[in-house]
Amino acid sequence: MEEYDVAVVGAGPAGSSAARAAALAGARVVVLDRAAFPRYKTCGGGLIGPSLAALPGGPPSRASITRVSLSLAGGRRRTRVVDQPCLQMVTRAELDAWLLEEAAAAGAEVRVPCRVLSLDDDVLDTDAGRLRAAVVVAADGTSSRLAREVGVQLSRVDLGLELELEAGALAGEWAGRVHLDWGPVPGSYAWVFPKGDTLTVGVIAARGAGDATRRYLRDFVSWVGLEGLRVVHDSGHLTRCRTPTSPLGRGRVLLAGDAAGLLEPWTREGISFATRSGALAGAVAAAGPSGAVERYRAALSRELLPEMAAGERCLRAFESRPWAFHELIRSTPVGWDQFARITRGETTLARAVRRWPVRAGLGLLSLGSAAGSAHRVPPA
Ligand SMILES: Cc1cc2nc3c(=O)[nH]c(=O)nc-3n(C[C@H](O)[C@H](O)[C@H](O)COP(=O)(O)OP(=O)(O)OC[C@H]3O[C@@H](n4cnc5c(N)ncnc54)[C@H](O)[C@@H]3O)c2cc1C
Repeated sequence: MEEYDVAVVGAGPAGSSAARAAALAGARVVVLDRAAFPRYKTCGGGLIGPSLAALPGGPPSRASITRVSLSLAGGRRRTRVVDQPCLQMVTRAELDAWLLEEAAAAGAEVRVPCRVLSLDDDVLDTDAGRLRAAVVVAADGTSSRLAREVGVQLSRVDLGLELELEAGALAGEWAGRVHLDWGPVPGSYAWVFPKGDTLTVGVIAARGAGDATRRYLRDFVSWVGLEGLRVVHDSGHLTRCRTPTSPLGRGRVLLAGDAAGLLEPWTREGISFATRSGALAGAVAAAGPSGAVERYRAALSRELLPEMAAGERCLRAFESRPWAFHELIRSTPVGWDQFARITRGETTLARAVRRWPVRAGLGLLSLGSAAGSAHRVPPA
């Protein structure tokens, strides 16, 4: 049986970042994914500043965003413009294939397609045989079976629905522009993200409101004038947020990215959480299994966990009064400036939320909100 210092399960942004970091730290690493790459992944592919900063170089970007159109359930529209791009757009097929190549270039052994079936102490059973690993990074996404075994607990699960549309003659009109709509379902929003010859159009809302979410997507496509475009992909996927006390690993297993429920709860931005938690998990794993979970938790507590807590505060206020968020970003210089600076990575949500006017505003907006408890789900 082959032996490794670190085995990484899943080669999304979390897994490839973990594999790369562990390999750079000198560990013998294998990364396994059940899919052959490049593979499609349901995702907006919007990269904010912290995602870009965590990547090993410039990603294969399809669009650089300088215009943001905003609406509230299709109405009260405004397009705002920035001097410096505030987002980059990628397709996940291209981003993830590139990240996996970077992990391989750093020295990680790549095994794809290879499905991991189970873990028994230090033995990973896969559909292509067994291997042994001192530390396992579970980066196998929202359906992670290793996370279930570790006992991850979730505070929120959302359903994202997405259409990939052929942009055709509309490609020029959408070049460099995204559209965000704050939706009629509590906590929901929708987006159009341009990818050159295609447009990614999606909505996200709490799981369990499937019909309303589907209706919202249909209405949104019509509000932004995209009916009739050829559908290249039509898919859905879950996002999930951990509870503040949910385990981040156990024994020789560390959980990263979606598997751990690491995600910004308001925007459901997950790529920066995946790349950053993956890189931290990989570095910790390379130092061996002893105390790995504690070292990993300490590393996440410095930046990522406070960001999640700030996102949770924003989500509570947003769920209860989406129109106020809309007006803040659409009509006030401070609101728009903060939004653009956070997306560019010049400040963070946690820092913004600590400023007293923002803190006070969020407190007022959250008054009477039942959110947070409304979407509590039992342990996975
Ligand atoms: C509709 C939607 C839109 C989104 N838009 C954005 C966005 O614009 N920007 C953003 O930052 N975030 C976005 N997100 C969130 C983002 O997609 C995720 O947070 C991110 O993909 C998490 O990366 P990951 O590496 O943890 O998991 P994944 O990217 O899901 O990777 C997990 C990998 O594990 C593999 N795997 C699973 N089980 C096994 C197994 N048993 N054996 C081997 N391999 C296995 C899978 O094949 C997969 O490749 C969106 C999410 C949704 C649902």
